[in-house]
Amino acid sequence: MNVLVINCGSSSLKYQLLNMQNESVLAKGICERIGIDGRLVHERPEGKYEATPAMPDHAAAMSVVLEALLDPNHGVIKSKDEIHAIGHRVVHGGETFTQSILIDEKVEAAVEACSDLAPLHNPPNLIGIRACRQHMPNLPQVGVFDTAFHQTMPAKAYLYAVDHKLYDKHKIRRYGFHGTSHKYVSQQAAELLNRPLADLKLVTCHLGNGASVCAVQGGESIDTSMGLTPLEGLAMGTRSGDLDPALITFIMEKENLTAQEVLDMLNKKSGMLGLSGVGSDFRDLATAAESGNQKALDALEVFAYRVAGYVGRYAAAMNGLDAVIFTAGIGENDSYIRAKVCEYLTWFGVSLNQEENKKRGKALDISNSEAKVRVLVIPTNEELMIARDTKKILEA
Ligand code: AMP
Repeated sequence: MNVLVINCGSSSLKYQLLNMQNESVLAKGICERIGIDGRLVHERPEGKYEATPAMPDHAAAMSVVLEALLDPNHGVIKSKDEIHAIGHRVVHGGETFTQSILIDEKVEAAVEACSDLAPLHNPPNLIGIRACRQHMPNLPQVGVFDTAFHQTMPAKAYLYAVDHKLYDKHKIRRYGFHGTSHKYVSQQAAELLNRPLADLKLVTCHLGNGASVCAVQGGESIDTSMGLTPLEGLAMGTRSGDLDPALITFIMEKENLTAQEVLDMLNKKSGMLGLSGVGSDFRDLATAAESGNQKALDALEVFAYRVAGYVGRYAAAMNGLDAVIFTAGIGENDSYIRAKVCEYLTWFGVSLNQEENKKRGKALDISNSEAKVRVLVIPTNEELMIARDTKKILEA
């Protein structure tokens, strides 16, 4: 079975075609600048192909993807019939979706209803679903939700301490994101540790441009750092993460801004970018820090301190900790941040092997042998998880 995985953003469409007999990637790529001009990067094991076809909308981008997959020179299939199902990343499933699901009209309407909670993400996800249906009307499509894994959180973790009516009326609560990644790396961790997932207390740190930490007990999410929206929790590339909510009206008054403008500031101009003035990319921050830029150094300290703080909090939540897992762009690549976080955790029984910490690219235990709490680096693979769920649902 070949599964096409689609991750549709407001101006981009990422895709991956997987052969699920052996879980190999046949081709992958990204359409960017949709609605502006259009840029395609298409990769196969044999090499990369780039082009700038017009992409006035997502349906046009989907045509470009299909043309690339079918192209006699850089394609990987001869006919659309060689695609057997489509799996979509959908960001917000609210309380409706606790697992992946075959998309029908009812599901689509429910995803639309969740758009209130994720106005930047769910509408483009829906556009992707509709664009696929336009091109491949008879193909089954499956929705895989970022929030679904966290639906096992108990009320004490998901309730905000505000008037309960707000939850009753508007479903205002903590949802959490990156669920597909937290789930994947926790499963991989159990394999690497050679222990049943059901017995493990793990903290998974998905540290990318968006970043979140999750407490995974017995394979289930029991708490996570993102909330109603992906703004809560860690300090991120451009997002503030946790702060005193009174800051919002305070900034509005002092800077003469509207609520929406402050929210934009907290989402797009805060975090590492806001603190350092250098940028949101950790490679740029590292370069600036190495040349003595104090603000960049402070930003990296804030980042690591918050990650470590969440690990400690979740060790308390689970009353124990077997392993800390680092994943995503920063978690997989940034040995400096990993070392900084682990410095705070020696008390818990973390003991980082500095040599192993320098290695990259594969799942690895980077602890010293005597460490009571293991530290693992595990490359995430959300696309594979989406394809696996899609296959499982179709076979059921
Ligand atoms: P993601 O959102 O998972 O794709 O992660 C993207 C982020 O990972 C980038 O913004 C960088 O900050 C970070 N990143 C990627 N590669 C490296 C690297 N080699 N060293 C440090 N940070 C990196």
